[in-house]
Amino acid sequence: MFVSAIIAAGGRGLRLGGAVPKQLLTLAGRPILERSVAIFVDHPEISEIIVALPSDLAAEPPPYLRTAVKQLRVVAGGERRQDSVSCAFQAVDPHADIVVIHDAARPFATRDLVSRTIAAAAKTGASLAAIPSRDTVKRTDRTGDAGAPQNDERFVVETLSRDEIFLAQTPQAFRRDVLDAALAAARNGAEATDEAALAERAGYRVEIVHGEATNIKVTTPEDMTIADAIARKTGPLPARTGRAGTGYDLHRLVAGRPLIVGGITIPSAAGALGHSDADVVCHAITDAVLGAVGLGDIGLHFPDSDPQWKGASSLDLMARAKTMAADHGYEIGNVDVTVILEKPKIRDYVDRMRESIATALGIDPSRVSVKGKTNEGMDAIGRGEAIAAHAVALLRSRS
Ligand code: MG
Repeated sequence: MFVSAIIAAGGRGLRLGGAVPKQLLTLAGRPILERSVAIFVDHPEISEIIVALPSDLAAEPPPYLRTAVKQLRVVAGGERRQDSVSCAFQAVDPHADIVVIHDAARPFATRDLVSRTIAAAAKTGASLAAIPSRDTVKRTDRTGDAGAPQNDERFVVETLSRDEIFLAQTPQAFRRDVLDAALAAARNGAEATDEAALAERAGYRVEIVHGEATNIKVTTPEDMTIADAIARKTGPLPARTGRAGTGYDLHRLVAGRPLIVGGITIPSAAGALGHSDADVVCHAITDAVLGAVGLGDIGLHFPDSDPQWKGASSLDLMARAKTMAADHGYEIGNVDVTVILEKPKIRDYVDRMRESIATALGIDPSRVSVKGKTNEGMDAIGRGEAIAAHAVALLRSRS
């Protein structure tokens, strides 16, 4: 099942009154928007995420929205909430089965609530999270005893049966065709404060999924106080953890080629055979960096069938991989490499390798480790016919 998530963050949050849009205010050190998006980034059932932002923010989205972990797109929202959702819906993958919509102003929805909302929509077509009213609910109007409107005063018309009253939250989830029909009705003039109301008006039954009391909508300054307390209680977001990648490379050793390892030329009777300079250390690190961010591998981005990479400096390819990771919001924490080579010993060159690798990656040499091993005379490497390298890279989000 392909599930798309729309995060409605197109509003300005004027009720909070500040110069900063409310979705960018921080709770326990993390912006509300980052928290709301993280629910879906971390959710295993969500295939893609579309975030509708005010147009000025959409033009320059914050770094935590530039994640490669999952397909995440930012679109400029519209004037009203339903316009923003419409804009985002146009960016939804055509193969989506279910679309989940969530308010950016609700940063505490749990993974379980999202799952139950999706499951209900898959079964019935439309669902929303909602909680039973704890307070007794009165329907009112402005008509007093005299039968005439009395300024701002309101009077009870009837007391509603509390059992039937549910307060709507998000997430709200819809089969793609249901949401399509609901939004089409909205384009024809219908107005609503949530998509479930549009679906109702389009003639669909919307199933209630039991929401969560902590899934509050942060709208007023008082809400910020409560939200801050919830944020402190629920603890830090797990999303800013590092991402690890591994890389491996092996090249044949032949007479008459230079032996370039970690960007350093080592005097040797045989050198590595390859299309480029055949630097196994740089190739392994390149794969580790790309792998950490889920960007494929060296062969995908720098294929040896492409003449532009013939004779390319592997330090340069590695630096390009680092730039690609940076474009996705990640920087390199450290890299650790093991070189497997029977001879010569690399020990005397390790410090220079660390320097050259660190320079290419734009990090301090203390974050680069290079270790040498032999293969104890066994197999092709042990017979001096090949050189290999293993690398691990740890990347972390720059936000
Ligand atoms: Mg290679």
